[in-house]
Amino acid sequence: MACKKIGSLSNAMWQRSTTCRVSLCAGLNIPAFACGSFASAGATMNGQNCCKDGHNCGPTRNLAANHNPVAAAVTSHRHQIVGKNRGEESLNKSGRAFSSTAPQINNKTYLWARYNEMKRLVHDLIPPGVCNLLNPSTIYANNEVNLEEVDIYGFDYDYTLALYSSALDEMIYNKAREFLVQHYKVRERHNGRILSFQDAIGMVHIKGYMYKWIMQDLEKYILRGDETYAVLHRLASHGKKLFLITNSPFSFVDKGMKYMVGKEWRDFFDVVIVQADKPHFFNDCLKPFRRLDSNGDLQWDRIKSLDKGQIYKQGNLVDFLKLTGWRGSKVFYFGDHLYSDLADLMLRHGWRTGAIVPELEVETKVVNTEQYAQSLTWLQALTGLLERMQMYREPESKEVLQEWLKEREELRAVTKNLFNPHFGSIFRTCHNPTYFSRRLCRFSDLYMASISCLLNYDLSYTFYPRRTPLQHEAPLWMDQLCTGCMKTPFLEEMAHIR
Ligand SMILES: [Mg+2]
Repeated sequence: MACKKIGSLSNAMWQRSTTCRVSLCAGLNIPAFACGSFASAGATMNGQNCCKDGHNCGPTRNLAANHNPVAAAVTSHRHQIVGKNRGEESLNKSGRAFSSTAPQINNKTYLWARYNEMKRLVHDLIPPGVCNLLNPSTIYANNEVNLEEVDIYGFDYDYTLALYSSALDEMIYNKAREFLVQHYKVRERHNGRILSFQDAIGMVHIKGYMYKWIMQDLEKYILRGDETYAVLHRLASHGKKLFLITNSPFSFVDKGMKYMVGKEWRDFFDVVIVQADKPHFFNDCLKPFRRLDSNGDLQWDRIKSLDKGQIYKQGNLVDFLKLTGWRGSKVFYFGDHLYSDLADLMLRHGWRTGAIVPELEVETKVVNTEQYAQSLTWLQALTGLLERMQMYREPESKEVLQEWLKEREELRAVTKNLFNPHFGSIFRTCHNPTYFSRRLCRFSDLYMASISCLLNYDLSYTFYPRRTPLQHEAPLWMDQLCTGCMKTPFLEEMAHIR
């Protein structure tokens, strides 16, 4: 049976290797490197389970030497390595020539033995079949949020209440390219500056193409409308107040909502605001609210209250707060655009915010594959190995390190291309969070693939953010594990860093 959470296993293993080094290595004079291997067996020690939470981690894995020919070879190297380590130690400490009686091996053999040892450890760490650890419907927290305290739920419309299929992205892309090539010529000056692809995409929206395409074929472009209905129904039936603030026009929203939620969709909402002109809606007070009559025609009467059943246009947040009194953390607003929807609310107005990131679903599928888990973990381990072994500088060793560097580059490409061959994951560039990721953490309290993720949680659920380690902190999560836990048995080699 596979371990339920690699995180638990990682944690347990890290602790094991530390404990092992301190208690066993010191007490029984077992070399640290061998202790690392012992811990890496991922099996029982002193009759204890390897997982901290007591889950069974799977079949007991003795040091694979008895079962695995590769490991057997590594084990045969290991005896030599111990001798080498001791030799290095005596050289480092005495500052004089090597004087051990232990058998000597060349550096190349030594480096490859360490490589194989590490590879076996990674294999043990992620046994085949351990994947699907992430549920694509999970809601992730950047800040602690207790839904019990939320009385009022607000929504953006496009890409939030209405999720669109990739067919629409393709249409927008093709149309934007058409703009660039046919109407303006690529690199032609537009309003005094070069028209970018982003401008062209903006024009697809402005010119109403997107609205036209969607309204012509709702079934093709709108995804999972029944889930949107289920979310709204659930919130309303629990007595929550709902509101909608969208930049889209009423006729477009009305058609989509009728398709997803039904003719009476407006009954769910206490306030509906269309053509709001976000982000200006949130950060200036210039535009007053206007009302649309039942034909969708603009009325010019002064707005003194925002009433259920009415449709309002434009307006601004200051008036909205005055008229509704919906302030602070009892209001939760969902949107897909970090700047237009969420930034001002988070930074200036104190509403709680939820970011809708549809890409999470696809990326979660990638993270859940065995290929990704294996590649990423091995990439981390190999990087750690390169870091520790870089002091081997004679030509023979350098050749080995060059091979490792090449393999590392290939692994980096594999782990990137699994997401997207052009730009990788939207969340990370190699090990660093992307700009998008950092903004996402800053501007949203929660983030999720779609609002339907809410259906998996009780309406008094509290979301707690997980603590993620900084560079100098102890490794407590999977992809930090290999470099981290492997460093522990090799502390002697890191003496120059301490
Ligand atoms: Mg939107």
